[in-house]
Amino acid sequence: MDKKDFLIGSHCSMNSPEFYLGTVREAISYDSSCFMFYTGAPQNSFRKPLNELKIEEGRRLLKENNFDESKIIVHAPYIINPANPDRKDLRDMSVDFMVRELKRTAGFGCKTIVLHPGNHLGAGPDAAIKCLDESLNQIFEQDGTDVKIAIETMSGKGSEIGITFEQVAQIINGCKYPERLGVCLDTCHVSDAGYDIHDVDGLLNEFDKIIGLNKLLVVHLNDSKNPRAAHKDRHENLGYGYIGFETLNKIAHHPLLVNVPKILETPYYNDEPPYKKEIAMLRGENFLDEWREKS
Ligand code: FE
Ligand code: FE
Ligand code: ZN
Repeated sequence: MDKKDFLIGSHCSMNSPEFYLGTVREAISYDSSCFMFYTGAPQNSFRKPLNELKIEEGRRLLKENNFDESKIIVHAPYIINPANPDRKDLRDMSVDFMVRELKRTAGFGCKTIVLHPGNHLGAGPDAAIKCLDESLNQIFEQDGTDVKIAIETMSGKGSEIGITFEQVAQIINGCKYPERLGVCLDTCHVSDAGYDIHDVDGLLNEFDKIIGLNKLLVVHLNDSKNPRAAHKDRHENLGYGYIGFETLNKIAHHPLLVNVPKILETPYYNDEPPYKKEIAMLRGENFLDEWREKS
């Protein structure tokens, strides 16, 4: 089967000693056709030099397995807050870090990096979005790659920004380089933010009206441990949360999203990654209830 037919994959890890080669092997072991990874630890900005990460070996394996490299996604570390309205020094740090991270993303042959837009910390979304757009302008002015930043839709936990399609559109339109920006739609986050995820066509229609479906570069396919509008951001395995398998499967196979990579970020169960089973269920379009014991 051609790997490009159904763009499904998961978060994959990158660890010593195999690094990117190990990441690609992990994706293949789940029967994925795409995947997402961090170029270092998600919770800090320490980064190993690219020449130590077995990138060439990983890319060779991707080629042998017919992966479309343009559908492999990098996720920026989630500690940076390029929207921080209070601390210019921390914004500047985020800008410096993102410039290096875009270069690293290009070094893996990838075209897209997902970014959490950040937190307003009480200053309100408008002030934070203005700061974020200044940061994005600075990033793109220093950047020499063609990597796009995909702004992730957030759940509304704490003082997150980017929790409505309007806010995401405001971020894109306020940047001097909107052609460098896209969107990552996280199903758990939009449901937690208050959208009716079960009306898939209505949701995509609204996304198209406010942002434009041509901006949608990634879908994070997660169930949610909490009901609509809970603002919690706790991911659940497919079919075990409030979104349910049917809706998630419909999104995975939606004709408007054929070219958009769908990435699972569901939790490990009994210390084991669930991705092989979840990908098999999505490929078969059939929920198998047995793999998780009932608690
Ligand atoms: Fe994320
Ligand atoms: Fe996500
Ligand atoms: Zn999340």
